[in-house]
Amino acid sequence: MAQRNTWQRERVRDALADARGFVSAQTLHATLREENTGIGLATVYRALSGLAASGDADTLQSPDGEALYRACETQAHHHHLICRSCGLTVEIEATDVEQWARRTAALHGFRDAEHVVDIFGLCGACAGIADAAADRAEKA
Ligand SMILES: [Zn+2]
Ligand SMILES: [Zn+2]
Ligand SMILES: [Zn+2]
Repeated sequence: MAQRNTWQRERVRDALADARGFVSAQTLHATLREENTGIGLATVYRALSGLAASGDADTLQSPDGEALYRACETQAHHHHLICRSCGLTVEIEATDVEQWARRTAALHGFRDAEHVVDIFGLCGACAGIADAAADRAEKA
């Protein structure tokens, strides 16, 4: 297939780089629409899966099963800590997980094992807000 959609892919790549944390194709499409790029949702989907396939973007599933993407700073294998409220994302190493995954795969005779481990939670700021809201609710 010809590379006639290259500028669109570049535009999607830029929008992804500007995003705060992991974003869905819909979210990115909405951002691009505000900028009047004329890029359709199907093109955004295609660009994102292309970026993920070439290793230019990380992809994961949100707890409700939605595919999310992010242009991470770390190129090497890593994991993520993600705030489910504000989307803050921290790229983390997980040495224990690497060893456990390799050992467990080998134990069952598996080779070329890969794994996806991401932690979803509330960041300190959001937890503080949540605590304050809970306090208010208790006093009310
Ligand atoms: Zn990443
Ligand atoms: Zn947060
Ligand atoms: Zn790992």
